[in-house]
Amino acid sequence: MGRRISPLAARKMFRGRSLFMIRNQKTLNMGREEKMQKDQPNIVEKAKHLLKATARHVADGMKEVSKNQLDTRLSICNECDLRDGRTCTHPECGCSLIRKALWHSEDCPEGKWPKI
Ligand code: SF4
Repeated sequence: MGRRISPLAARKMFRGRSLFMIRNQKTLNMGREEKMQKDQPNIVEKAKHLLKATARHVADGMKEVSKNQLDTRLSICNECDLRDGRTCTHPECGCSLIRKALWHSEDCPEGKWPKI
């Protein structure tokens, strides 16, 4: 026959486990944030990516997406872990999301945007 646990002891165990899980989750989040910061492109890489994106935009006839397409793209970015404010922090990007989402020639480096 198993040992009986009093409701008070069960509550204490559960509380202890919750705190452990919360602490563990914080540690995981810290590791993830540090990794994201480490993987972010530096200023020189960002400038290179912007130049390449601008060249693609000009070669594409400077076409922009429709308002609906822009809203769809930005709503996907809003849910993305790689968005930092108005910037995409993907290692292959680092661009302003408004400009990136508006330009027809651009695509999400993670392939999250619908094809146009
Ligand atoms: S462009 Fe893609 S990777 Fe970058 S923030 Fe938007 S959804 Fe995320």
